Amino acid sequence: MVLADLGARLHGALNQLSRASVVDDTVIDALLKELCAALLEADVNVKLVSQLRTKVKAKVKKSLEEAEKAGGREANKKNVVQKAVFDELVSLVDPGTEPYKPVKGKTNVLMAVGIQGAGKTTTCTKLAVHYQRRGFRSCLVCADTFRAGAFDQLKQNATKAKIPFYGSYTETDPVAIAALGVEKFRKERFDVIIVDTSGRHKQESELFEEMVAIGEAVRPDMTIMVLDASIGQAAEGQSRAFKDSADFGAIIVTKLDGHAKGGGAISAVAATKTPIIFLGTGEHLHDLERFAPQPFVSKLLGMGDVQGLVEHMQDMARANPDRQKDLAKKLEQGKFSIRDWREQLSNIMSMGSLSKIASMIPGLPAGMMDGGEEEAGAKLKRMIFITDAMRQDELDSDGTIFVSFDKAGNPIGLNRRAKRVARGSGTSVREVEELLAQARMMAGMARQAGGQNGWMSTMQKMQ
Ligand code: GDP
Repeated sequence: MVLADLGARLHGALNQLSRASVVDDTVIDALLKELCAALLEADVNVKLVSQLRTKVKAKVKKSLEEAEKAGGREANKKNVVQKAVFDELVSLVDPGTEPYKPVKGKTNVLMAVGIQGAGKTTTCTKLAVHYQRRGFRSCLVCADTFRAGAFDQLKQNATKAKIPFYGSYTETDPVAIAALGVEKFRKERFDVIIVDTSGRHKQESELFEEMVAIGEAVRPDMTIMVLDASIGQAAEGQSRAFKDSADFGAIIVTKLDGHAKGGGAISAVAATKTPIIFLGTGEHLHDLERFAPQPFVSKLLGMGDVQGLVEHMQDMARANPDRQKDLAKKLEQGKFSIRDWREQLSNIMSMGSLSKIASMIPGLPAGMMDGGEEEAGAKLKRMIFITDAMRQDELDSDGTIFVSFDKAGNPIGLNRRAKRVARGSGTSVREVEELLAQARMMAGMARQAGGQNGWMSTMQKMQ
């Protein structure tokens, strides 16, 4: 998981809070101290950290005063503190601006800029694959004539990913190549044309001039700056320098897989009010995660990312049209049973890259995935064992069958069925409860989507 160390520390600090019998100033101060230390360790700017501390404190104070007036209990206090921390972490990585979203049925030109080595060429291919998997016809144009071998690299990546590409071994003018490539693909009615530009020149000013000239020639709908996370807080200066020349609309932060200090880069970029659209999380073509402030923080704190998970399921379904039909139909009707959740878990297991996907599942403890693929696989297997111990009618249910209710119809806990399943699967009632909660959350999403314009169109809107 991206920033796993930071996530584990933040999660640990919030756990301390959950365990505290009384929430007083000492407990809150200890929580804030640990939060701030963790953020500083992830290279987040001191000023931003100190602002976060002040804001959380102020928010908590205000909410607690209000809660006290209304006769608040300890549990509520905990919620207040947790919510304030969550909200402030979100605003730390939230630039507060919306990026351009490629639209189907028109040609969307995206141009990538950034210094050499940031991961531009790799990211361009990842982006093309991302859009292709979502039904866009995407292609690549190599406008980097400065670096020997740039075209070969793009060609190799594109061929591997089966993405059409354009470039030239003989033409030396990057502006001409970019214009020709975009023109060709525009005529061929591609949906997403991604232009990769050079990242180095003899003089920095020449690099910026070239970016501007290419931009004028291809008129991109969105210019994306690709930025290496390992530069940490320096990301702010670098992105400002680029912004002054090529006015880009979005940023992709790469190499977050290897850098514990990536928090610095993400928060520094957010401070420039430019939306981060994706994170690069590895060298492979699929190692690209969509970035949105709330799901990012939610995942970081071990609270999962249901929307990301659903999108992922949708991708998997696309790769397997028969399943897609089935799943789409069920979701359209707003139905999602434990059996469906079980099938999704098996799909996830067959997709590889478990630790990344597992971090999207709510209720899996943070840090659990630190053990890597093996541990993530073991955990997912336990979840499947739980469903193996269920009877047919239980699998086909939405999970309410496992809950006891009082006379007034309020849920009062899990019933004997849940205990039987825990025993039968060699797991604990708590784990059964987690699985039921996940299935319930997925069902909730399905109902929401089904109740509106149908699941598929909701998915499309989310792209
Ligand atoms: P460019 O010069 O900006 O076009 O950078 P490249 O695309 O050639 O990438 C430079 C190096 O970074 C290559 O070895 C890539 O495999 C690697 N790279 C790119 N993105 C990522 C990422 O998200 N994670 C990791 N670990 N490596 C990456």
